[in-house]
Amino acid sequence: MRSLTPPKIMLERGEGCRVWDVDGNEYLDFLAGIAVNSLGHAHPALVAAIADQAAKLVHVSNYFATPPQLELAERLKRITGAGDAGRVYFGNSGAEANEAAFKLARLNRGADGKKTRILALKQGFHGRTMGALALTGKPALQEDFLPMVPGVEHIDSTVDALEAAIDDTVAALFIEPIKGEAGVVDLPEGFLLAARRLTEEHGALLVLDEIQTGVGRTGNWFAFQGHGFVPDAVTVAKGIAGGFPIGALVTFGWASDLFSAGQHGSTFGGNPLGTRVANAVLEEIERADLVRGAIAKGERIRSTVTALGSPLVEEVRGSGLLIGIGLTRPVAAAVNAAALERGLIINAPNESSLRIAPPLIVSDAEIDAFAAILGQSLAAVAAQETAA
Ligand SMILES: *Cc1c(COP(=O)(O)O)cnc(C)c1O
Repeated sequence: MRSLTPPKIMLERGEGCRVWDVDGNEYLDFLAGIAVNSLGHAHPALVAAIADQAAKLVHVSNYFATPPQLELAERLKRITGAGDAGRVYFGNSGAEANEAAFKLARLNRGADGKKTRILALKQGFHGRTMGALALTGKPALQEDFLPMVPGVEHIDSTVDALEAAIDDTVAALFIEPIKGEAGVVDLPEGFLLAARRLTEEHGALLVLDEIQTGVGRTGNWFAFQGHGFVPDAVTVAKGIAGGFPIGALVTFGWASDLFSAGQHGSTFGGNPLGTRVANAVLEEIERADLVRGAIAKGERIRSTVTALGSPLVEEVRGSGLLIGIGLTRPVAAAVNAAALERGLIINAPNESSLRIAPPLIVSDAEIDAFAAILGQSLAAVAAQETAA
């Protein structure tokens, strides 16, 4: 379908943080399928989980529970901190997790039925299906598909804007704790805590889209855990099963009582294969202490990028192993292409930002190799600019 830009490279296999194309060229993968391949490529724990579960039970429908499904629900309740009052809904993607959260928001109508508004942030990204697209604060992505699902308002990421917009008619506030698709852009200091306070005051659900930031990537299991509060709901996908498609909505406290039987579902959602793979990935992340590791590795990336001293680098954003490099000029596509030519996979979410999101298993040696190639790529683009 012409909905995507045609790729120029065909990849055939991978191992750890490296992938090879069909012509045998090797690439260092510092994008990890956009924060998806938490354990890199062909990790033995993931391979074994897929093979073993495939030989047992792949799919059964939601008329039946399976051990991996219950185990994953319990694990998610534990690592999010939702605990015994938590509940988990399983879908197959980030967008589906957010669609479930959108329906959750519609169920929070308030005693007088007046809670009809949903707030989300400008430049926030929540997915491409119609509900998730309505939540996404990027008019350019929406304009060809109007009208949007009604009820969503996009506000600036400031406490003032939030205070001005929120009242008792708000059913939910959706926030991406770090705006990944916008170029890995951090929220202002104190914004999340203010969002928690104001949503609580007005009986609105605080829904955190941790689809990109979650599963250890930012140096906590979930980014909100670095801020000392709990939300009412969290959506999870990308890194949770290392590339196997699965998404989840986790609810906390009173939000766990909103859905009732028959109101939502998905044929494939929560099947034994997907949930088994997610368990294997989360277990390995825990065993190898990769959540804590993301902090030190992220610091190493940050300091090596800063040490390059490139005049094209304006700032380094993000947290842990979700890193955005803000450029002084709109040359992100050129730097991205120069890196790819030199065997490094990163990404340019917009014209002046680079996104770095390697597998959580990335080694110090791989980080140094990355920095060397990035340095050459930045220098090549800077030289072209000077020549032009
Ligand atoms: C990727 C992403 C989504 C959408 O997930 P899909 O699996 O592509 O549907 C939603 N929100 C955030 C923050 C994302 O990064």
